[in-house]
Amino acid sequence: MSRRRKIYEGKAKIMYEGPEPGTLIQSFKDDATAFNNEKKGTITGKGVLNNRISEFLMTRLNDIGIPTHFIRRLNMREQLVRQVEIIPIEVVIRNVAAGSIAKRFGIEEGTPLPRAIIEYYYKSDELGDPMISEDHITAFGWAGVQDLDDMVALSLRVNDFLIGMFLGVGLRLVDFKLEFGRVYSEDDMQIVLADEISPDNCRLWDTKTNEKLDKDRFRRDLGGVKEAYQEVARRLGVLPEAGPMDLKGPQGIQ
Ligand code: ADP
Ligand code: UDP
Repeated sequence: MSRRRKIYEGKAKIMYEGPEPGTLIQSFKDDATAFNNEKKGTITGKGVLNNRISEFLMTRLNDIGIPTHFIRRLNMREQLVRQVEIIPIEVVIRNVAAGSIAKRFGIEEGTPLPRAIIEYYYKSDELGDPMISEDHITAFGWAGVQDLDDMVALSLRVNDFLIGMFLGVGLRLVDFKLEFGRVYSEDDMQIVLADEISPDNCRLWDTKTNEKLDKDRFRRDLGGVKEAYQEVARRLGVLPEAGPMDLKGPQGIQ
């Protein structure tokens, strides 16, 4: 086993120091949590699947000019990414009412929203990720007005693109969460998409049957969690051929 410096261990991923300055290795775990850590579990193979799914989606987004942290996949569980200064905000984009918005406003789950709705949550496990407004973000200095403008514009582009991409494989993108970070160069700063895009942070429903193919299967004890993630990977054409088995553990990189 290689001895790499662990920068951070979160609920779903471990970030290691990368091979070059300004890079990190993002390692996807099989651990799953929900309801601010109250519910914990393991979904065997989830890390391998999310690594592939996020690689695929970030690559497609890069292709259409959305700046992302993704550099390349290294192995079954790990990808090389640009180290960013994470903006401590979860940007949630919703197309269809589900989860907390359905509860908060008493809207039936599955009701299409009049237009894409963006919400912000402050990233803080201690505080339970409270919902915040644009004013909180700028007043408390978590992001500037221009940063926020960039994040909104990028979120809406990502949403439009992903809606179409998932529709093409028979999936409805109900809602999802994005994280952004800052990358600095010489005298410039750019906002880039970071973290991951996977069934851990998207709601994806089969367009014909409305079957849930995302983390709600875990949150709501619906069973077939791994199979749902596999189905998303299969439809996107990224299901690992040998199956979602990764017995190698973290590997050194060239
Ligand atoms: P959590 O922190 O919510 O438990 P994870 O287990 O997914 O989440 O941990 C990944 C952590 O790494 C998150 O806090 C995320 O904000 C952060 N992160 C994601 N991408 C990058 C990046 N490119 N550079 C620095 N930090 C990142
Ligand atoms: N989400 C996420 N991380 C969070 C909270 C939400 O990835 O900490 C995603 C979630 O998977 C869903 C969307 O954001 O796709 C909206 O989630 P919601 O606010 O409904 O929260 P929930 O009730 O699911 O916790």
